[in-house]
This record gives sequence, C-alpha cells and structure tokens, in this order.
Amino acid sequence: MRFANLHGRSILVVADADGLDRAVDIERASDGTLSSDPAVYVDLANHPRLAEVATGVAAGEWPVLDLALLGAPVPRPPKGLGVGLNYRTHAIESGREFPTEPHLFGKTNNCVAGPFDDVIAPAGRHEIDFEAEVVIAFGRTCTRATETDAWSYLAGVTCGQDISDRGEQFRPPIKQFTIAKSYDTFGPTGPFLVTPDEFDDRDALELTGVVSGEVMQHANTSDLIFSIPALVVWLTRFMTFGPGDLVWTGTPGGVGEARTPQRFLVDGDLIETTVSGVGTMRNRVVVR
Ligand code: ZN
Repeated sequence: MRFANLHGRSILVVADADGLDRAVDIERASDGTLSSDPAVYVDLANHPRLAEVATGVAAGEWPVLDLALLGAPVPRPPKGLGVGLNYRTHAIESGREFPTEPHLFGKTNNCVAGPFDDVIAPAGRHEIDFEAEVVIAFGRTCTRATETDAWSYLAGVTCGQDISDRGEQFRPPIKQFTIAKSYDTFGPTGPFLVTPDEFDDRDALELTGVVSGEVMQHANTSDLIFSIPALVVWLTRFMTFGPGDLVWTGTPGGVGEARTPQRFLVDGDLIETTVSGVGTMRNRVVVR
C-alpha cells in the first residue's frame, strides 16, 4: 500500500485503470472506522483494515491525486534519528574510516517538511548541503529486534533529505550534528509512505539525488554499510521505537561539501530526491 498526507488528511494512493494515482480518503472510504489523521497508517495495527479498504475501493470514483497538496507522510514523528557515514562512498569522500557500529544523531520533529515544501536556508549561512536518503518509519513497538524480524516492525519507507549546515555541524571545538541537521524544514520527506511488501526487493532500493538538474548522488540500499535490518537491530538494543518514529538511513557519496569545487545550496536550487518504488520529492531552496 501507498499512503500520503493530503492537506492533513490520511489517504490511500491507488492507481486507476489508466494508471493515474487517485486519492482515497481513508476516513470516508472506511465509513469513519479509520481516522483521518495521518498517524492512522503508521500504526501497523490498522494495516489489516487498511488492506480491506484498499481492496474494496473503486479507484476511479476518487479524485486524481494533486501532488502539490501533499504534506510529510509522517508529519509529527515522536522521534527522528539520522545515520552518519552509512555508505562507503560517503565515508571515503569524507576522509573517514568505515564505522564498525552505526553513528547516529537526532533529527528533531520541527525539521520535518513536506515533499514539495521549500527548504529554508538561513541567510548568512553559506554551507547548506544536501543529503538524499531513504527514510524508514516504525509501525509498532520495537525493542531488541532481530535481523529476521526487523522489517516486520516497519510501517513503510519514504524519500528524505538530511539537509545540513556544514559550518555548524563541524564548528570547533566540538561537532554539532543534531542542531545543524534539525533547522526548520531540514528534513523533507515523502511523497508517499510505501509498505515494504510493495518492493520487488526491499533491501535493494535505488536512491537518486539531483540538484538543479545535475545528478549528485546515486546509490542503492544494497550498498549500505549497515542495512536497514542491521540498523533496526542495533538501535533497538538500546532504545524502544514505536509507530511514527523515523530513521534517515544515511547518504551516499556526492554531497556538496565533498565535491571539487564544493557545491553548497543556493537560493532557487531545486532538490529532487527519488527512491525507486516510492516516487520523487521536489524541494526548492529559499534563502531568508
Ligand atoms: Zn544524513
């Protein structure tokens, strides 16, 4: 199933006979038995009922999906974390050793933005960088997952950007990852939350990051140093996760900071982030 947040309402995205995406309002299609709050679809307890609704719906009777109205599929994650250095290409370009265990930082929920929202780069900060990522959303309480059952805790996958102020992130004398990656709008996600069963191979998702027409990043989650199940196992040894918690799973090589010459975001840039089987997010950079 594919889910989205249409102007604050939970919807199922279903293709009609012509392959056109239609927006099925979950509350109305379920005769009021399921909530209009997008929180409804990050709770795996609701998925059996959602699957019934998805099967029973006549897609052609619902409005054509207007992408411009989409908000973040998980607009208020209880917690958000990002993984540093999870692709070898990014570790190499950063001049760092490969990690032997995951390194994480917080992405506080104020940073979450929609798939077509502007990214606001604060005026006077000149090292704002892009990081295309695959984002996972938990769907039920999870402690001490195993590699085998890790995926069963996840409600879905979406596209994300882990926008970063490099000047702030590496400001001496100590580093400051969480703040530098959690400014308002620094965590756009979307356009859809896609359940893992929709993918041909959920452990091989293709990820592409384009800035103003130039392909900057291109990778596959099969290249991750710590796979999605491995991250879930490692994190849930120490922390309990639950419905709506998000993890940005890391960015591949090609970020602006590591390029020669460096390529930081400027006013008017268009960031396009695609995950195969999920779709494409488009975020304009606005300096103010
Ligand atoms: Zn990142």
